[in-house]
Amino acid sequence: MPAKGWIVVSDLYCKGCELCVSECPQHVLALNMDRLTPKGYHPAYQINDGCTGCATCSVICPEGAITVFREGPNKVTRVNVQEA
Ligand code: SF4
Ligand code: SF4
Repeated sequence: MPAKGWIVVSDLYCKGCELCVSECPQHVLALNMDRLTPKGYHPAYQINDGCTGCATCSVICPEGAITVFREGPNKVTRVNVQEA
């Protein structure tokens, strides 16, 4: 069974560039066209439960806007620690 993960995108830093959307190997990211960040961008968000916590999106994000969490057998791990 693949690892279970999830992400949190910072509205302060995301600029809606879509890099994470195109690079996610599980295709679970999209831009949220129903929302605008305070800076006026459509932010990235997770569209379903398929995230494995691989952190590819976080590494590729030029703004450091994505924090990744991964669920282990007994605990939740914060995979990366971004400035956001
Ligand atoms: S790569 Fe970063 S800045 Fe670009 S859409 Fe994704 S979260 Fe936003
Ligand atoms: S951690 Fe990996 S699987 Fe999860 S949203 Fe980011 S790129 Fe996709």
